Amino acid sequence: MRGVQEQAQAMPSVTSARLRLGEVPMILMYHGVADEAEDPNHLCVAPARFAEQMTWLKRRGLQGVSIGTLVDAMRAGRPRGLVGITFDDGYVNVLKAALPELRRHGFTATMFIVSGRLSGSNEWDEGPRWPLMSAGQVRELAAAGMEIGSHSSSHVRLAGLDADQLKAQVADSKASLADLVGASVRGFAYPYGSMDAAARLAVRDAGYNYACAVETPLRELGIMALPRVYVGQNDDARRMAAKRLLFKGYIAVKGRRP
Ligand SMILES: [Zn+2]
Repeated sequence: MRGVQEQAQAMPSVTSARLRLGEVPMILMYHGVADEAEDPNHLCVAPARFAEQMTWLKRRGLQGVSIGTLVDAMRAGRPRGLVGITFDDGYVNVLKAALPELRRHGFTATMFIVSGRLSGSNEWDEGPRWPLMSAGQVRELAAAGMEIGSHSSSHVRLAGLDADQLKAQVADSKASLADLVGASVRGFAYPYGSMDAAARLAVRDAGYNYACAVETPLRELGIMALPRVYVGQNDDARRMAAKRLLFKGYIAVKGRRP
């Protein structure tokens, strides 16, 4: 334990929740895993492509892990070789198609669930509707060793919300998912990646350990605003390799945009 504490002290920016670009781990962002002919928002990856991407990680000696595990490893100064895997929204097809593939490789992942839309669909999107997991299916994921995180209560943009609205989306969602899975819920993912200082504060004050954004402004990089890399149907092994090489540069460029 002593060694762990010393390493943690050597990374004060991690323990104080701010991150430098060099400390940002690679976190993959998925939504659905399904063969979908009509997918204008590019939310789904076909099962065969997903299998190829997971195999690519494994062959590179990389371990796919939930973000809770990744954040613990960062705090212990041992994130090397770990890649975070996340799924937003809670589509049923993730349970059917992604879970077996993750388990085949000994990977875990974090599934960010919209707590007020269980058994519903992605009615917030323009475009095709896909079914979201039921309470029982979310429990099934948790029982299979996947981390359950919150993706808000009703998938609204958090930037600009007042304190009461933030509480309903952030704290209430945490409580209801914790009730559902019978364990504490450590992680949050901002719907649409939309966040401001008040939203980040609400997430921290609600007792979350970390939160995932999408494109994070460089000055906001931190445990409450972890940037993620979109992975889609076109990402074959070659593009995965390029994303791994370039993602910090990509974050830096995106993060400089006003
Ligand atoms: Zn979402």
